[in-house]
Amino acid sequence: MILQFNGPVVHLVECLLCMQEVSGSSPLGSTIIMSEFLQFKDLKIEVKTSAQARRWRLAVHADGRIVLTRPKSFFQLPPDKIIAERYDWLKAKTKFWQEHRGNAPILSKTQQRQAYLQNKIAARNLVRARLEFYNQKYKLKYNRISIKNTATTWGSCSSRGNLNFNYKIVLLPERLADYIVVHELCHLAALNHSTRFWRLVGESLPDYKLLRAQLKKIGRLS
Ligand SMILES: [Zn+2]
Repeated sequence: MILQFNGPVVHLVECLLCMQEVSGSSPLGSTIIMSEFLQFKDLKIEVKTSAQARRWRLAVHADGRIVLTRPKSFFQLPPDKIIAERYDWLKAKTKFWQEHRGNAPILSKTQQRQAYLQNKIAARNLVRARLEFYNQKYKLKYNRISIKNTATTWGSCSSRGNLNFNYKIVLLPERLADYIVVHELCHLAALNHSTRFWRLVGESLPDYKLLRAQLKKIGRLS
Protein backbone atom coordinates (compact mmCIF):
# COMPACT_ATOMS: atom_id res chain seq x y z
CA MET A 1 0.00 0.00 0.00
CA ILE A 2 1.15 3.51 -0.66
CA LEU A 3 -0.05 6.20 1.64
CA GLN A 4 0.02 9.52 -0.01
CA PHE A 5 0.32 12.60 2.11
CA ASN A 6 -1.21 15.94 1.24
CA GLY A 7 1.59 17.05 -0.98
CA PRO A 8 1.93 15.21 -4.27
CA VAL A 9 5.64 14.69 -3.91
CA VAL A 10 6.01 12.05 -1.24
CA HIS A 11 5.02 8.42 -1.33
CA LEU A 12 5.08 6.66 1.97
CA VAL A 13 5.46 3.01 1.31
CA GLU A 14 4.48 0.26 3.65
CA CYS A 15 3.48 -2.51 1.32
CA LEU A 16 4.62 -5.72 2.88
CA LEU A 17 4.69 -7.45 -0.46
CA CYS A 18 6.29 -4.87 -2.61
CA MET A 19 8.31 -2.74 -0.32
CA GLN A 20 11.20 -2.68 -2.68
CA GLU A 21 9.62 -3.11 -6.05
CA VAL A 22 6.51 -1.07 -6.28
CA SER A 23 6.72 -0.66 -10.00
CA GLY A 24 8.88 -1.25 -13.02
CA SER A 25 9.93 2.35 -13.00
CA SER A 26 10.75 2.01 -9.35
CA PRO A 27 13.45 4.49 -8.37
CA LEU A 28 15.68 1.70 -7.13
CA GLY A 29 18.39 -0.52 -8.48
CA SER A 30 20.65 0.65 -11.20
CA THR A 31 19.08 4.08 -11.45
CA ILE A 32 20.53 5.16 -8.11
CA ILE A 33 23.30 7.64 -8.72
CA MET A 34 24.09 8.58 -5.15
CA SER A 35 23.49 7.15 -1.70
CA GLU A 36 24.22 8.87 1.58
CA PHE A 37 23.12 8.65 5.19
CA LEU A 38 21.26 11.25 7.15
CA GLN A 39 20.81 11.25 10.92
CA PHE A 40 17.60 12.78 12.18
CA LYS A 41 17.12 12.59 15.94
CA ASP A 42 17.33 8.84 16.68
CA LEU A 43 16.68 7.74 13.10
CA LYS A 44 19.27 6.91 10.49
CA ILE A 45 17.96 7.42 6.99
CA GLU A 46 19.53 6.33 3.76
CA VAL A 47 19.00 8.99 1.14
CA LYS A 48 19.22 7.73 -2.40
CA THR A 49 19.29 9.98 -5.42
CA SER A 50 17.72 8.39 -8.45
CA ALA A 51 18.14 9.28 -12.10
CA GLN A 52 14.65 8.02 -12.90
CA ALA A 53 12.48 8.81 -9.91
CA ARG A 54 9.99 11.58 -10.40
CA ARG A 55 8.80 11.76 -6.82
CA TRP A 56 10.09 11.40 -3.33
CA ARG A 57 9.54 8.01 -1.86
CA LEU A 58 9.95 7.12 1.77
CA ALA A 59 10.01 3.47 2.81
CA VAL A 60 10.38 1.68 6.11
CA HIS A 61 11.64 -1.83 5.51
CA ALA A 62 11.00 -4.86 7.67
CA ASP A 63 14.66 -5.04 8.64
CA GLY A 64 14.44 -1.54 10.06
CA ARG A 65 16.07 0.35 7.22
CA ILE A 66 14.54 3.69 6.32
CA VAL A 67 15.14 4.73 2.75
CA LEU A 68 14.29 8.03 1.18
CA THR A 69 14.59 8.03 -2.58
CA ARG A 70 14.61 11.37 -4.29
CA PRO A 71 14.64 12.51 -7.88
CA LYS A 72 17.83 13.95 -9.24
CA SER A 73 16.16 17.01 -10.65
CA PHE A 74 14.20 18.03 -7.59
CA PHE A 75 15.74 20.70 -5.40
CA GLN A 76 12.92 22.31 -3.47
CA LEU A 77 12.54 20.19 -0.38
CA PRO A 78 15.64 19.23 1.58
CA PRO A 79 15.59 15.64 2.88
CA ASP A 80 15.64 16.64 6.56
CA LYS A 81 12.45 18.64 6.07
CA ILE A 82 10.74 15.62 4.54
CA ILE A 83 11.89 13.47 7.42
CA ALA A 84 10.94 16.02 10.05
CA GLU A 85 7.38 16.19 8.76
CA ARG A 86 7.02 12.40 8.75
CA TYR A 87 8.96 11.69 11.90
CA ASP A 88 5.97 10.30 13.83
CA TRP A 89 4.97 8.06 10.94
CA LEU A 90 8.52 6.76 10.66
CA LYS A 91 8.69 6.05 14.38
CA ALA A 92 5.36 4.21 14.29
CA LYS A 93 6.40 2.04 11.35
CA THR A 94 9.80 1.29 12.82
CA LYS A 95 8.10 0.22 16.05
CA PHE A 96 5.65 -1.96 14.11
CA TRP A 97 8.47 -3.87 12.45
CA GLN A 98 10.40 -4.24 15.69
CA GLU A 99 7.38 -5.77 17.39
CA HIS A 100 6.49 -8.10 14.56
CA ARG A 101 9.99 -9.23 13.91
CA GLY A 102 10.34 -10.13 17.58
CA ASN A 103 8.22 -13.28 17.20
CA ALA A 104 10.09 -14.78 14.32
CA PRO A 105 12.75 -17.38 15.03
CA ILE A 106 16.21 -16.33 14.03
CA LEU A 107 17.85 -18.91 11.80
CA SER A 108 21.52 -19.05 11.02
CA LYS A 109 22.65 -18.43 7.44
CA THR A 110 23.17 -22.17 6.92
CA GLN A 111 19.75 -23.01 8.35
CA GLN A 112 18.15 -20.42 6.13
CA ARG A 113 19.87 -21.83 3.08
CA GLN A 114 18.76 -25.35 4.00
CA ALA A 115 15.16 -24.25 4.53
CA TYR A 116 15.23 -22.54 1.16
CA LEU A 117 16.55 -25.61 -0.65
CA GLN A 118 14.06 -27.85 1.11
CA ASN A 119 11.03 -25.75 0.23
CA LYS A 120 11.95 -24.23 -3.10
CA ILE A 121 10.44 -26.89 -5.37
CA ALA A 122 7.25 -27.18 -3.37
CA ALA A 123 6.95 -23.39 -3.43
CA ARG A 124 7.40 -23.31 -7.19
CA ASN A 125 4.75 -25.99 -7.70
CA LEU A 126 2.34 -24.18 -5.44
CA VAL A 127 2.90 -20.81 -7.10
CA ARG A 128 2.58 -22.28 -10.60
CA ALA A 129 -0.66 -24.03 -9.79
CA ARG A 130 -2.26 -21.05 -8.06
CA LEU A 131 -1.13 -18.65 -10.80
CA GLU A 132 -2.69 -20.87 -13.43
CA PHE A 133 -5.85 -21.15 -11.42
CA TYR A 134 -6.36 -17.44 -10.89
CA ASN A 135 -5.13 -16.47 -14.32
CA GLN A 136 -8.04 -18.29 -15.89
CA LYS A 137 -9.93 -15.16 -14.95
CA TYR A 138 -7.35 -12.47 -15.75
CA LYS A 139 -5.64 -14.07 -18.75
CA LEU A 140 -2.47 -12.05 -18.20
CA LYS A 141 0.92 -12.85 -19.66
CA TYR A 142 3.85 -13.51 -17.38
CA ASN A 143 7.38 -14.61 -18.11
CA ARG A 144 9.73 -16.11 -15.60
CA ILE A 145 8.60 -17.34 -12.20
CA SER A 146 11.37 -17.25 -9.61
CA ILE A 147 11.37 -18.58 -6.10
CA LYS A 148 13.73 -16.56 -3.97
CA ASN A 149 15.14 -16.46 -0.52
CA THR A 150 14.51 -12.80 0.12
CA ALA A 151 14.58 -11.24 3.53
CA THR A 152 11.88 -8.65 3.31
CA THR A 153 9.48 -9.33 0.47
CA TRP A 154 6.81 -11.95 -0.12
CA GLY A 155 6.66 -11.32 -3.79
CA SER A 156 7.33 -8.87 -6.55
CA CYS A 157 6.49 -8.23 -10.15
CA SER A 158 8.86 -6.64 -12.63
CA SER A 159 7.95 -4.45 -15.58
CA ARG A 160 9.10 -7.30 -17.82
CA GLY A 161 6.43 -9.54 -16.40
CA ASN A 162 8.71 -11.65 -14.25
CA LEU A 163 7.16 -12.81 -11.01
CA ASN A 164 9.21 -13.46 -7.89
CA PHE A 165 8.03 -15.18 -4.76
CA ASN A 166 9.55 -15.86 -1.40
CA TYR A 167 9.89 -19.62 -0.84
CA LYS A 168 8.19 -19.19 2.54
CA ILE A 169 4.92 -18.77 0.69
CA VAL A 170 4.64 -22.55 0.91
CA LEU A 171 4.67 -22.35 4.70
CA LEU A 172 1.72 -19.97 4.86
CA PRO A 173 -1.96 -20.82 5.26
CA GLU A 174 -3.50 -21.43 1.84
CA ARG A 175 -5.55 -18.25 1.74
CA LEU A 176 -2.57 -16.05 2.52
CA ALA A 177 -0.48 -17.76 -0.14
CA ASP A 178 -3.32 -17.13 -2.58
CA TYR A 179 -3.39 -13.51 -1.61
CA ILE A 180 0.30 -13.12 -2.45
CA VAL A 181 -0.17 -14.90 -5.78
CA VAL A 182 -3.18 -12.79 -6.75
CA HIS A 183 -1.47 -9.62 -5.57
CA GLU A 184 1.54 -10.17 -7.82
CA LEU A 185 -0.58 -11.47 -10.68
CA CYS A 186 -2.66 -8.28 -10.66
CA HIS A 187 0.53 -6.20 -10.79
CA LEU A 188 0.90 -7.49 -14.34
CA ALA A 189 -2.15 -5.41 -15.15
CA ALA A 190 -1.37 -2.50 -12.84
CA LEU A 191 2.16 -1.88 -11.58
CA ASN A 192 0.96 0.20 -8.67
CA HIS A 193 -1.47 0.04 -5.79
CA SER A 194 -4.18 2.09 -7.44
CA THR A 195 -7.91 1.67 -6.96
CA ARG A 196 -7.95 -0.28 -10.18
CA PHE A 197 -5.30 -2.64 -8.86
CA TRP A 198 -7.24 -3.40 -5.66
CA ARG A 199 -10.43 -3.85 -7.66
CA LEU A 200 -8.67 -6.54 -9.70
CA VAL A 201 -7.41 -8.25 -6.55
CA GLY A 202 -10.93 -8.07 -5.09
CA GLU A 203 -12.39 -9.84 -8.10
CA SER A 204 -10.67 -13.02 -6.99
CA LEU A 205 -10.40 -12.37 -3.27
CA PRO A 206 -13.26 -10.23 -1.99
CA ASP A 207 -11.81 -10.51 1.52
CA TYR A 208 -8.36 -9.32 0.45
CA LYS A 209 -8.30 -6.57 3.09
CA LEU A 210 -8.60 -9.15 5.83
CA LEU A 211 -5.97 -11.38 4.24
CA ARG A 212 -3.67 -8.45 3.85
CA ALA A 213 -4.08 -7.56 7.52
CA GLN A 214 -3.38 -11.16 8.54
CA LEU A 215 -0.24 -11.27 6.45
CA LYS A 216 0.89 -8.00 7.96
CA LYS A 217 0.54 -9.50 11.42
CA ILE A 218 2.74 -12.40 10.47
CA GLY A 219 5.32 -10.05 9.02
CA ARG A 220 8.21 -11.84 7.51
CA LEU A 221 9.27 -15.30 8.56
CA SER A 222 12.92 -15.51 9.18
ZN1 LIG B 1 2.07 -4.70 -4.48
